[in-house]
Amino acid sequence: MSGDGGPRVAVVGGGIIGLAVAAELAGRGADVTVFDPEPDGRDGAWHVAAGMLAPGGESAFEYPHLTRLLEASNELWPWYAAALGDVGYDDAGTLGVALTADDVADSVREWKHQKLTPLPGSQLRDREPALSPRVRAGVYAPAERQVDPRKVVAALRTSLAGRIVPKRIDSLSDVDADITVVAAGCGTAALTGLPIRPVKGQVLRLRGEPGLIRHVIHGIADGRAVYLVPRADGEVVVGATQEERSDRAITVGGVHDLLRAALDLVPGLAEHEITEVTVGHRPGTPDNAPILGYLDHTRRTVVAAGHHRNGVLLAPITARLIADLVLTGSAGNVLDDFAPRRFGCA
Ligand SMILES: Cc1cc2nc3c(=O)[nH]c(=O)nc-3n(C[C@H](O)[C@H](O)[C@H](O)COP(=O)(O)OP(=O)(O)OC[C@H]3O[C@@H](n4cnc5c(N)ncnc54)[C@H](O)[C@@H]3O)c2cc1C
Repeated sequence: MSGDGGPRVAVVGGGIIGLAVAAELAGRGADVTVFDPEPDGRDGAWHVAAGMLAPGGESAFEYPHLTRLLEASNELWPWYAAALGDVGYDDAGTLGVALTADDVADSVREWKHQKLTPLPGSQLRDREPALSPRVRAGVYAPAERQVDPRKVVAALRTSLAGRIVPKRIDSLSDVDADITVVAAGCGTAALTGLPIRPVKGQVLRLRGEPGLIRHVIHGIADGRAVYLVPRADGEVVVGATQEERSDRAITVGGVHDLLRAALDLVPGLAEHEITEVTVGHRPGTPDNAPILGYLDHTRRTVVAAGHHRNGVLLAPITARLIADLVLTGSAGNVLDDFAPRRFGCA
């Protein structure tokens, strides 16, 4: 224990999850230190992420525990964003759209699962006039919002000033603390042996006159999936490929597919400037759910990793549950379905 009574907690990894956990712990009186090789860097998946808060669209149909966790975190976001300040939180909602008849047929199962009413293209264009006249049908999902992950990380870094140490941890035995939280994204696999794999995503950032589109648009155009996330300042994030690869190459096919689908859905984007093309790696797990809980029976190491496609959405609930576990030894039974032991750990 530290001199002021709070436990000494080391958080390995200063991405969006590690910082959110550390900020929650610090706010509840723990003596927290975050270790990251690049405390001001842009290496984490958060830097590439679009920041969609999409508990329905991105979840696995067959895994209701995950859906419940996503929905619970989504409910925390309005409060969480307000506490952080201006982090680009926007509640205009999401339009799920389909270009062709085949795209509509591919989308209806997901729309039905989300209990959303299909709308004809004309009604979608009333809401979002920049949509192509070719868009046939879609849905409006008011609960699917967005935030800017770069602004979230900047706000969390500011709140943790003086507690972030520029150091890469190669072995957990090198960490001197009462309890260690491993939140190193894809780097968690090497530190713990847990099955977390990098899932590559290529993302474009465009810039133009603000206001061309108001909603997040999550669509499918001639079989190509794409999402468009408009920021208030005129930036539009276009994502993302999903590739079982660990390289950082920006490929012609990846960029072409994203741009083609984006322009099919919103032709007016042709006048935008391309300002960034980036690659990131989602920390994927075998069942697409995060790994949250004690690593082993010593209860000295807690894992908060493997958030795959939803780490931004899941940051508030992860912070709350992991802080409960670290500070009280329990987070109720919510974590049972996400425990490391489901992958054979002690
Ligand atoms: C293309 C793309 C689009 C995405 N879009 C969305 C989205 O719209 N909505 C959403 O909710 N999620 C999205 N995600 C997922 C989200 O970005 C991730 O789930 C989230 O960033 C995971 O957070 P993390 O902190 O665990 O990992 P990261 O953000 O990757 O951060 C990991 C940190 O750990 C540090 N680290 C690694 N190894 C070590 C070590 N040995 N010692 C110390 N530090 C270490 C790294 O330097 C890094 O800072 C997207 C991801 C990608 C790639």
